Amino acid sequence: MIPDEAIRTVRERANIAEVVSDVVALRRRGRSATGLCPFHAEKTPSFTVSEERGFYHCFGCGEHGDVFAFVMKTQSLSFPEAVRRVAERFGVPVPEEVAGGARTTEPLAQVNAAAATFFRTELAGSAGTRARAYLRERGLADETVARFGLGWAPGSGEALARHLRARGLRVEDAIVAGLILRRDRPDARGSVFDRFRERVMFPIADASGKVVAFGGRILPGRTPVGDPPPKYLNSAESPIFKKGHTLYGLAQARDAIRRAGRVIVVEGYLDVIALSEAGIGEVVAPLGVALTVDQLRLVRRFSEHVVACFDGDAAGRRAAARSFPSFLEAGLWGRAAFLPGGDDPDSFVRREGRAALEGYLAAAEPLVDAFVLELAGTDREAVGRRADAAREVARLLKRVTSPYEHDLLARLAAERLGVREEMLRSEGAPEPTPTPAPAARGSAGAEAMLVELMADDPAIAARVAASGVIADFQHPDWRRAAEALAAAGGDAERNALVCALPREMRDRVARRLLGEGEAVEEREQAVQDCIGSIHRRREAAARRQLTDELRAAAGRGDEAAADAAKQKLRAFDAEHTQKVST
Ligand SMILES: [Zn+2]
Repeated sequence: MIPDEAIRTVRERANIAEVVSDVVALRRRGRSATGLCPFHAEKTPSFTVSEERGFYHCFGCGEHGDVFAFVMKTQSLSFPEAVRRVAERFGVPVPEEVAGGARTTEPLAQVNAAAATFFRTELAGSAGTRARAYLRERGLADETVARFGLGWAPGSGEALARHLRARGLRVEDAIVAGLILRRDRPDARGSVFDRFRERVMFPIADASGKVVAFGGRILPGRTPVGDPPPKYLNSAESPIFKKGHTLYGLAQARDAIRRAGRVIVVEGYLDVIALSEAGIGEVVAPLGVALTVDQLRLVRRFSEHVVACFDGDAAGRRAAARSFPSFLEAGLWGRAAFLPGGDDPDSFVRREGRAALEGYLAAAEPLVDAFVLELAGTDREAVGRRADAAREVARLLKRVTSPYEHDLLARLAAERLGVREEMLRSEGAPEPTPTPAPAARGSAGAEAMLVELMADDPAIAARVAASGVIADFQHPDWRRAAEALAAAGGDAERNALVCALPREMRDRVARRLLGEGEAVEEREQAVQDCIGSIHRRREAAARRQLTDELRAAAGRGDEAAADAAKQKLRAFDAEHTQKVST
């Protein structure tokens, strides 16, 4: 665990605007800076950074956090890693981890790095003869094999585990990293075996080039006994590896993407490697799954011009059509290059060469066309078909938050489907951007307002807690938030609580933190008003109970009970000098 004291120092010394500037082009605007949000697609900046208060907030998608949260999210790091990365940058020394402290993902990166070296060495050695022959047969040059760090996992079953132990690395970390499995036989307690055996190994790295997982491919032409093993196998998901968040080849492709101003998406490891070898380096692949929105967002950080390769047959066209909503959700339009039926990019480029492939890439069609065409179907005039398609587009439009993209899709879809644009829009127009809520009135608004004020200022949080008013909160979200904020220890904890608040409240808190709220005196008044309002509501409820009692007693004709109730009511009114309206 990194001591809290050190974390605090790093947070204080770090300049969040500087860190964010690595990813987002920021423009000063008064006391804060704004830019295009890296977490959602937008054309007008709603991502705001407060240098003074050390946080970021997006009014478009609600993302909120401090400098560590930003580094964690944009660089896929754990909290301690993010703290260290920021500390390094601002020259703040951070003491070493206390033994037995919190788990970090650094050991996982270590075992992955050691495994990558081990597999590479095995490929180069005598055990790797068959694998080397296979790679040569696939036309891979030695430089390519080195560039992608390819390796060989031997078949003994415990070779990697032995190697890691010999290097002083913990097998437990390799188990968490998804490289080694525990035998589940009861008589083999403590015994482990390698996940990858007799496979050509493809290291999978994050965008920065750190190995986070592996893909393993069996060699062709072996007829194994029993169930055939899967052709491809990935590391199990781990704290540093989420399949749907990772793209194969991205680290190697980064520079080429910048140079070419585009990203080519293919299906498999060998497609990536073949294109790269043919001189098209700006190429990545998802890991055995359809492209996810997260992967597309990752790509979008490097280029907005994305061409995905599909098989040119009917199934390929359907796959292209189905991928469009994910592209759009990631803020990308995307194009589809349809290769001749039955060809994958690997086989195609090796047979036909780069120029032929570039021809297909240049002829790539907008994904939206594939999408709308698929919706319209072959029988465009069939009864109900167009209406169904329009409904589908309207549904998709609802998920498009950017007005620009919304307009464009509505226009294109209307054109292609032959329906009126208004018909699509009326069902799918995005909600107008929320404007700052006026100072809330009434006791329901008072609870929310108090949460907002408590998130802003620990002194107010303490005062609200002391007033005892939180017990009277009726809205479960606000009560939970107020209780947590009252107990929050420091900035980091308060910040984490803010992130957990409902979206609308996060926006309100952010506006207040950005100094768009009222002056100090007004704020004091607001706290008093809110507490007063909630107290009055409780008193009104208590009085209503007494009048109900009185009415019930009178209704039953029970004069004794009615008198008693009248007494209580009088006593209540005397105690609460301020007359409460019922
Ligand atoms: Zn956003």
